[in-house]
Amino acid sequence: MLTHFINGETVPSINGGSFVLDQASRAAKPIEVTRGDAQDAASAVESAAAALPAWRNISSQERGRALQRVADALRADIDRFAQAESLDTGKPIELSRAEVTGAADYFEFYATLVNLPVGEVLDIEPGLHVHTIREPYGVVGIITPWNLPLNQAARACAPALLAGNTVVLKPAEVTPTTSIMFAELCKHVGLPDGVLNVVLGQGSVVGTAIVEHPTVSKVAFTGSVPVGRTISRVAAERILPLTLELGGKSACVVFEDSDLDLAAKEIVRAFTTNAGQVCSSGTRLLVQESVHDALVGKIVDRVKALREGVDVGPIITQQQFGTVKDYLQVAEDEGATAAVGGSGSAVDEAGCYVAPTVYTNVDNSMRIAQEEVFGPVLAVIKFSSEDEAIALANDSDFGLAGGVFSHDIAQAMRVASAIQAGQIYINSWSTQSVQMPFGGHKLSGYGREKGIEAVNHYSQVKSVSINLGAVTA
Ligand code: NAP
Ligand code: MG
Repeated sequence: MLTHFINGETVPSINGGSFVLDQASRAAKPIEVTRGDAQDAASAVESAAAALPAWRNISSQERGRALQRVADALRADIDRFAQAESLDTGKPIELSRAEVTGAADYFEFYATLVNLPVGEVLDIEPGLHVHTIREPYGVVGIITPWNLPLNQAARACAPALLAGNTVVLKPAEVTPTTSIMFAELCKHVGLPDGVLNVVLGQGSVVGTAIVEHPTVSKVAFTGSVPVGRTISRVAAERILPLTLELGGKSACVVFEDSDLDLAAKEIVRAFTTNAGQVCSSGTRLLVQESVHDALVGKIVDRVKALREGVDVGPIITQQQFGTVKDYLQVAEDEGATAAVGGSGSAVDEAGCYVAPTVYTNVDNSMRIAQEEVFGPVLAVIKFSSEDEAIALANDSDFGLAGGVFSHDIAQAMRVASAIQAGQIYINSWSTQSVQMPFGGHKLSGYGREKGIEAVNHYSQVKSVSINLGAVTA
């Protein structure tokens, strides 16, 4: 049975809860997984609180070395982690390998940051010395979704640990395996007991318990808008600081002077990677009308060449598969036309596979253009002018990512600055690097993960003023 990892040990639930995880028929046999409750969450929080003084008070160099050992161990163990991730999620093994490498990259990047100077000295007046220091929040709760389980856990854990916090991590119930393996790996390379705890269970129970626990001083949540709202309400009572990384309906704007082959290649990657189960997927294509047909033709050709199970994997669960299929029906009922894929094309019920689908004849007010599908579905919308493209891109409740394809760099820069989103890609889609801060505008959330910026969200500034007495010299 897969169990919690608390205070350096694997432990079952205090009240004995468990459930059977049937990985959408991918596993040789279903596995039994611990299902915790508020008592287990409290136990994990207490463990993190007990480990806090020692962890925050060791030298930052030593913390950095620990993070580097985690990075090295992950790289050395990539096969085992990638296989486990592919089993839980169904994603192609090469994608899992890239995500494990990305997880190691996070730890490596934040390990190097220990060498950066922290804090400022403020020149205010003679006889007054003021400096600022950064302090950890304390116990940080990290709640992650199922789409990139290990990678998203590492994205939040690495800066949180670097800043001197201790962590209680709660993965999504359908993808618990690599988070537990990760905690075991951290212990193996010498992370002190209690510094990283993983508690398993349902979000509405264990997740809520973490957010409500009075000892938790900060929560980083990656997931859906409705759950983000629920957590925000609980946090409001406690004045609890949050980082919210939520959904998206990101637009890619393609102007008529663009390299259409490059645009087609990047857009197909943008909406089919991880079968579209990526928060920053490019799921709306805004294309200048003069090149609409040419670009759609190139995209359709590329989609037809994608191999099921190699380039595009399944949808994570039967439930999510049902949601994606419903959206295909919604789009067609609204009058969209499937240029490739669609509800009538091959959908593999048992394997939860949805053929990548491109809809034309879409109006931006349709549900297929406004709502996050979290499947491999692209909505194509025509525009005529730059102003119209910007207005369409911003006519969305979300604001996670955006793209611009243009040979006119001034135009690309104008549009990039006008799109309301946390990250913009010019002449590419989804440049991902650990150094690049990542987060949302509008319903896509607030706070930032990644880059040096993330450290500011896992620590708080203290100003210290020292009265030096009268200065006469
Ligand atoms: P979700 O349903 O919101 O769940 C996310 C996590 O929150 C899971 O661990 C879930 O646990 C937990 N949870 C559920 N209810 C909770 C509650 N009341 N209190 C505390 N925690 C609770 O999201 P998902 O379906 O897993 O993931 C898909 C969503 O994540 C999409 O909207 C996607 O855009 C977003 N996402 C955003 C980013 C980003 O960086 N912006 C990255 C990846 C995904 P259980 O599932 O175990 O119940
Ligand atoms: Mg969910």
